[in-house]
Amino acid sequence: MSEEKSNKIKIKAIDVRKEFKEGKRKVIALDNLNLKIEEGEFAVIVGPSGCGKSTFLYMIAGFENVTEGKILLDNIPVDKPGNNRGFVFQEFALFPWRTVEGNIRMPLDIAGNLEEAEIKAKVQEFIELVGLEGFEHAYPHTLSGGMKQRVGLARALVYDPDVLLLDEPFGALDAQTRKLMQQELIRIWQKVSSLGKKKTVVFITHSVIEAVYLADKVYVMSARPGHIKAIIDIDIPRPRSYTSDEFIHKREEVLKYLEEEVLIAAQQNREGLHPD
Ligand code: ADP
Ligand code: MG
Repeated sequence: MSEEKSNKIKIKAIDVRKEFKEGKRKVIALDNLNLKIEEGEFAVIVGPSGCGKSTFLYMIAGFENVTEGKILLDNIPVDKPGNNRGFVFQEFALFPWRTVEGNIRMPLDIAGNLEEAEIKAKVQEFIELVGLEGFEHAYPHTLSGGMKQRVGLARALVYDPDVLLLDEPFGALDAQTRKLMQQELIRIWQKVSSLGKKKTVVFITHSVIEAVYLADKVYVMSARPGHIKAIIDIDIPRPRSYTSDEFIHKREEVLKYLEEEVLIAAQQNREGLHPD
């Protein structure tokens, strides 16, 4: 995508700090977090468990506020959720009493500004896009993990957001399905980006292979309090091979930065230590 990049900054985090207070205990989840994500970029954030990845993504989504600093979306501080951002959760978060179609149309039902025929057409478009034709009337409990996450993706994309936020969406899938979904996500992202406005993606994972497969840029977060420790450009043309020399080289580069932080995080978690 590098040749198509507009270089417009879509998301900017400036000196972001996030504290959680639980009774007397205070956790500094993020501190001094700065980053810039370009419009149309596929950004992947990796970091050890507990370093504040979900917290940061929730703040871009507007589900959580910042304690200090700013998160700008199109140069405007984020202060609430909005239809310009779609969110895909790790634990699928589908409504069990709604069918595939019912789940995907949920955001449109809530928005309430479309005619029934328009809703039906839109939902069908996204069902086809994510490859769920024939499953329109199936309930979530009858679907495999990969299919549930296809529903999650379609639901996040159905109101045409310019930013797609995904929090370890493939973490619960088996290895083979996970690879397939990585390929599917790239296909879907390229398709929706070619149809209209370029979609900016922020994808969280703790899998280095997943990060290198998907990303234009990998942002490595430090152990808590999380900040951006390194940015690695992944300039490998797509579709990518998981086994090429350049892929393995990038994987090792990301791992080099991540390893140290994973050790620190493991120690924090073991000792229940908090840096404050
Ligand atoms: P990650 O997604 O990188 O695993 P999180 O963003 O979930 O990390 O959490 C970062 C830190 O903030 C952890 O120490 C976690 O316990 C703490 N934390 C997250 N959400 C809350 C909350 N709502 N209340 C208190 N502490 C929280
Ligand atoms: Mg998380």
